Amino acid sequence: MATVISLTMTPPVVTPEQPFVIMSQPVRPTGPVTGPDGGSHNGLEPTPELLAELAEHSRRLESATPQEIIAWAVENYAPKLTMATAFGPEGCVIMHMLAAIDPSTYVFNLDTGYQFKETLDLADRIEKRYGLKIDFKRADTTVEQYEALHGGPLYKTNSDQCCFDRKVKVLRQSVLGWQAWMSGIRRDQGTGDRAGIPIVGWDKKFALVKISPLANWTKKDVWKLITEENVPYNPLHDQGYTSIGCWPCTRAVMFGEDERAGRWSGSAKKECGLHTSD
Ligand code: SF4
Repeated sequence: MATVISLTMTPPVVTPEQPFVIMSQPVRPTGPVTGPDGGSHNGLEPTPELLAELAEHSRRLESATPQEIIAWAVENYAPKLTMATAFGPEGCVIMHMLAAIDPSTYVFNLDTGYQFKETLDLADRIEKRYGLKIDFKRADTTVEQYEALHGGPLYKTNSDQCCFDRKVKVLRQSVLGWQAWMSGIRRDQGTGDRAGIPIVGWDKKFALVKISPLANWTKKDVWKLITEENVPYNPLHDQGYTSIGCWPCTRAVMFGEDERAGRWSGSAKKECGLHTSD
């Protein structure tokens, strides 16, 4: 089970655009946690009633600020609420807000073993700045073992399998027992599942509620807050890396390119599978 985050520093004061408003009564379904092979792992079942409730909450939160959405998520799902971050600018913004709203929220990173050194350094800076303890979740093989098993780096020959083994499978394990997770995806990041993400919805792939507090924010909104509130961010962004994942599958983008053009560049792959419904 999860490691509990400890708060050792006074969290920064975040000034929301409006006071926090809990916009509705909690949806806190109860039930047994039955584990990975025993059906529902968290007491939630995607019944038509639950899906309708989530859709209604999502609709009502469309005009809420990210801080209000996070406060709503905490009110409804803590202590069964978690957050996954790859330390992108959006994740950094959410952790900045979360530190002021509920710093006891469990935050984790999927550490594939291929993350940039700058990304891991950023994790340290965030922990120090906010007093958060971020958990690193890893596959059951090291990079060396994994590459030996496949006769070399699988990201070169089968990146879908590599992402599945080192991200998707690890996330699946990491969210067992949790009822809701938060992610930093924005609708303006592209087409497909990102473009249509609800504020609150059922994540059928991982079988829990997914909350996207920044769904309505733009890249400009994110960087405005980072600049104004001095939020720690990955220095690779200053070198043209607009979206940062594993180092073998990430490059800096050129002027005019889409912000995710540097991910799996040269292949048709656009997503690692964490934020797709298929
Ligand atoms: S992004 Fe690349 S290195 Fe990272 S898990 Fe996916 S294929 Fe492997």
